[in-house]
Amino acid sequence: MSDYDIDPGVPEAIERFELPETLGFGPVEAPVMFEAEWRDGRWERGRLLPYGPIELLPGARALQYGELVFEGMKAYRVGQSRPNFFRPDANCRRLQRSASRMSMAAVPEALFFQGISAVANACSSIMPTQSGRSLYLRPFLFGTESGYMLRNSRTFRFMVIGNPVETYASGSMQVVIERAEVRATVGGLGEAKASANYAASLRASNAAVAQGRTVALWLDGSEHRYLQELSGMNIIVVLDGELHTPELDGAILAGITRDSLLVLARSLGLKVHERRISLDEVLEGIESGRCAEMFACGTAAIVAPIAVLAEVDGREYQLRQTDVVAKHLREALLAIQERRAPDPFGWTRELAPG
Ligand SMILES: *Cc1c(COP(=O)(O)O)cnc(C)c1O
Repeated sequence: MSDYDIDPGVPEAIERFELPETLGFGPVEAPVMFEAEWRDGRWERGRLLPYGPIELLPGARALQYGELVFEGMKAYRVGQSRPNFFRPDANCRRLQRSASRMSMAAVPEALFFQGISAVANACSSIMPTQSGRSLYLRPFLFGTESGYMLRNSRTFRFMVIGNPVETYASGSMQVVIERAEVRATVGGLGEAKASANYAASLRASNAAVAQGRTVALWLDGSEHRYLQELSGMNIIVVLDGELHTPELDGAILAGITRDSLLVLARSLGLKVHERRISLDEVLEGIESGRCAEMFACGTAAIVAPIAVLAEVDGREYQLRQTDVVAKHLREALLAIQERRAPDPFGWTRELAPG
């Protein structure tokens, strides 16, 4: 007996599902989803349901006031019978920290694991098994109470949806330096994985794409001088052969990929620095050749090389080297995630059968 309810439509939803050849990142939806409600100060029993539209009052605080935090993680089943997660405990803790920043109810670890395991287990027979493919899971928590009073919702819903995906292939990215708008400031929501941060970033992202570039690079909110990150990925700079990444100052999201790469890089003998990095230092480094390579990192793309930094007026700074250090790290990390290589850090976690 599982400790959550399973809707009678679930087996049929899974049976009907066909895994397409091309997955992309997001368009293919897993046939099931998990949900649990927080009401009267406690979590009610969760349910696994066929994937589909949900009911929500139009006045729900998630819609009116952006009361929504989320996670993104992957379950792998490459050459194995059981799915495994990569550092799921870190995603759980981060969701709790994000909820705390927003004064929302915390999702207890047991419920978080119940939700991600329910979806991954139900999908285990339809999970992609080729290297580079996985089941992306999106746990999220939002305020469902209707009303305009400026306080938190008193009811919440925790949900987990999933997508069979291939590694988000960004190619070599062309990054536009965003000097006018701000994504997050110290003291704001930057360190929370809150959908509101994405809302703040969309106009610059759209402008970057309209200019034929890939994404916007965000600078700090007070001086507009220091690197923060891309809209959904952290950034790492290779300077004099060593890795430098912006320190977690409260405005930057603490990426689990970022942290894993820093640990992995140190174990491979690379020097790693977390510090404030000025844009001028990077641009001068690119011109002088000290800064050979830059890349972005996150669960979706793992490690994505950057080819060009560009100003809004079209001026370009070309990186001399793309995807050398990045490729080395990406392959080493993916091999651990897919359990093709030993996992000395204890990062992967096999699912209990359910
Ligand atoms: C999710 C996210 C990242 C990457 O975090 P991972 O845990 O590595 O997936 C980086 N920046 C932002 C703004 C994010 O939302």
